[in-house]
Amino acid sequence: MSHLIKPILDGTYPKVSYGKGVFLYDEHGKDYLDASSGAVTVSIGHGVQEITDVLENQAKRVSFVYRSQFTSEAAERLAEKIYKLSNGHLSYSFFVNSGTEATETAMKMALQHFQEKGQGSKLKILSRWMSYHGITIGSLSMSGHSIRRTRFVPLLQDYPTVSAPYCYRCPYHMEFPSCQLRCADELERAIIRIGEEHIAAFIAEPIIGAAGAAITPPPGYYERIRDICDRYNILFIADEVMTGLGRTGKMFGYDHWEAKPDIVTLGKGLGAGYTPIAAAVATEEVMLPIKKGSKLVMSGHTFSANPLSCATALSVLQYVEKYNLVDESAQKGAYLKKELLKLKERFSIIGDVRGEGLLLGVEFVEDKKTKEPFPTSAQLTNQIIQTAMQNGLLLYPSAAGIEGVRGDAIIISPPFTIKEGEIKELLCRFEKTLSSIEMRLKNNQEERE
Ligand code: PLP
Repeated sequence: MSHLIKPILDGTYPKVSYGKGVFLYDEHGKDYLDASSGAVTVSIGHGVQEITDVLENQAKRVSFVYRSQFTSEAAERLAEKIYKLSNGHLSYSFFVNSGTEATETAMKMALQHFQEKGQGSKLKILSRWMSYHGITIGSLSMSGHSIRRTRFVPLLQDYPTVSAPYCYRCPYHMEFPSCQLRCADELERAIIRIGEEHIAAFIAEPIIGAAGAAITPPPGYYERIRDICDRYNILFIADEVMTGLGRTGKMFGYDHWEAKPDIVTLGKGLGAGYTPIAAAVATEEVMLPIKKGSKLVMSGHTFSANPLSCATALSVLQYVEKYNLVDESAQKGAYLKKELLKLKERFSIIGDVRGEGLLLGVEFVEDKKTKEPFPTSAQLTNQIIQTAMQNGLLLYPSAAGIEGVRGDAIIISPPFTIKEGEIKELLCRFEKTLSSIEMRLKNNQEERE
């Protein structure tokens, strides 16, 4: 009997033995090509000794200090590194332990920014349907992720109001550019309805992750969003927990557009799985009223800015720079996407391939022409994930489809360090998975007829 609560209580999960590069090995020696970097996290691959050496050395010096009592070289240098990576845009980092905590802290920073300026009625954070910002009540309130919200709806604030820039299933049944970015203008309409005096910020993932399988907005979208936020005195929070630090082929997801956010959240790739760490990072302008006012951001956790995690994350960022891994993500992502688009031509169930860098999404449909998804009862995403795992391939499940409620999709997001031969192996295992899924669907249909 296991005393551990697993995702599915009575589910069977292989026991991991070790990881090296893009592969994980279970206790029986079976290899799994980690095409999802776990939960889009292990951006530099598994078992990198340069990082584990730093971890060990820092642990020997000091692992933990309480941030109310000490600062540390590691935490100071990590905040400075993020400042430099953003070319001086993101001045102040608040370190936390998960992406969820990062988005909640970002939310509180935005509210506090206005409180300190005497605009305390600005308490709402607007967000999009088809988004994921975290699992606690505050961050889930901001998340337009149906399955994760449903059980808790009465406890949540009603934040997700704006449609996603989901061109494959345009909420207006239009096409870019003739749509003139109506989905972005929806933010303005929401602000007018609610009243700008009640709204502190708009939060969005630059490229939508778990709630949309790499939905990427059309050109000009974020420039329009930035303009609307400026006109209505609303801060723009870019939730870069998944997209940040090279995942999309640029250092930050927002670098794909000419629209700089006021607050950015980081997670996943910050510690790359070597340590739990995340951050809410703000510009000088956001922090100024707080610096002049109360001088404290009313947030924090016991483990915030602990030296062990900060030293580890710093070594991850140095590793990304040293080996040019952001460029690698862009180049390998372009190649992988091209190959996935070829698979789309061959497999009738692939409706769309999208994303940037090594954050790629594949959406599945029953009918390519009408874009009709499979019935929910078919549990297609689950079937694909399970079959891939049997074939030694790890994929990340995602919501997508009609209103993000009915549909099937996966994310493919291997470590940036993946080699060309390993991409070929990934594609080979994916193709094998799709072939057996298509065969199974065909057999099921024949049985029904
Ligand atoms: N924000 C985004 C964009 C995410 O993708 C996630 C997790 O998938 C979160 C926030 C929550 O992060 P965590 O699972 O580390 O709490």
